[in-house]
Amino acid sequence: MATHKTRMLIIGSGPAGLSAAIYGARAMMEPIVVQGLQPGGQLTITTDVENYPGFRDVVQGPWLMQEMQAQAEHVGTRMMWDTIVSVDLENGSPFRAVGDSGDVYEGETLVIATGAQARWLGVPGEMELGGKGVSACATCDGFFYRGKKVAVIGGGNTAVEEALYLTNHSDDVTLIHRRDSLRAERILQERLFRHPKIKVLWNKVVESFEGDPLAGGLTHLSLKDTVSGDMSAFHCDGAFVAIGHAPSTELFKKKLAMDDGGYLLVEPGTPKTAIPGVFACGDVMDHTYRQAVTAAGTGCMAALDAERFLATSKFEKEQVPESTW
Ligand code: NDP
Repeated sequence: MATHKTRMLIIGSGPAGLSAAIYGARAMMEPIVVQGLQPGGQLTITTDVENYPGFRDVVQGPWLMQEMQAQAEHVGTRMMWDTIVSVDLENGSPFRAVGDSGDVYEGETLVIATGAQARWLGVPGEMELGGKGVSACATCDGFFYRGKKVAVIGGGNTAVEEALYLTNHSDDVTLIHRRDSLRAERILQERLFRHPKIKVLWNKVVESFEGDPLAGGLTHLSLKDTVSGDMSAFHCDGAFVAIGHAPSTELFKKKLAMDDGGYLLVEPGTPKTAIPGVFACGDVMDHTYRQAVTAAGTGCMAALDAERFLATSKFEKEQVPESTW
């Protein structure tokens, strides 16, 4: 078990964490990035990315994250294959964090970029049939449903993208949404409605996922019509839940202020938390925009503010106390 010391400790390795690392490394803060359970973050389970500036052609999410990591390492970031399991923020800088490996990390500043993860419906059968027909990642699991009938639940960008992606594997994709209109961007909606392999079921909620986890997995969804209240069975081989995300803030409960959704609260317009030297960036503090490019932007802001924090603390320490004049 080792202790790793740095001027900037970053928890999380998505666009926010890696952008903070790139800026931090270039400011000679020798950052350490603790990668977490999903190195590269949510973009690693996405396929096409066509709205990250700088790329005229579509790029792949995993590729983009590999490039960001390579850039961060190239300028001097240390990447750690570990997951933080506890943090000590009470005693101020340096902040101490312990990894799953037993290693200890000490950062003069701390950048929290733990992101968000897929939300689940929380209905019967969902967990039991997880990996047996129920999934929250079409990119990861779509391949298993080659030539089969699949459903996607949700009406946002993620759900529409998942449905479109699944047409690479299946000729029979149904989007199931609880209302009669989608919140996904217009351009995605148009692609969805035009697609010959996709149907949409409106005003339906999933009451349960049915099937035997030990024999054959998912067989059907039990659906309720939100207008008539009628129940129906929707038979399919795979169901992909795509209803948004929840921030990964378990580590910071009772340590940092959060809103009702569990997102970290920061000083408006900055990545500063209430603890000097601790910054939050990316999806963990942003439930409004949640884009790779906005996450990268706030990661940059966190690194700049961390640098300023260190410069100010150094200046304050170097001041000769008045009493000794
Ligand atoms: P969103 O929060 O945008 O959408 C969630 C969807 O799930 C909504 O349609 C919502 O319905 C539905 N939903 C939520 N809870 C339930 C429930 N309990 N039962 C049934 N349906 C439910 O999440 P996304 O993951 O789609 O997107 C998150 C953010 O990431 C957005 O800002 C999005 O723009 C962005 N994004 C951007 C992409 C891109 O630009 N390429 C790709 C993917 C995401 P309702 O509409 O009724 O509230």
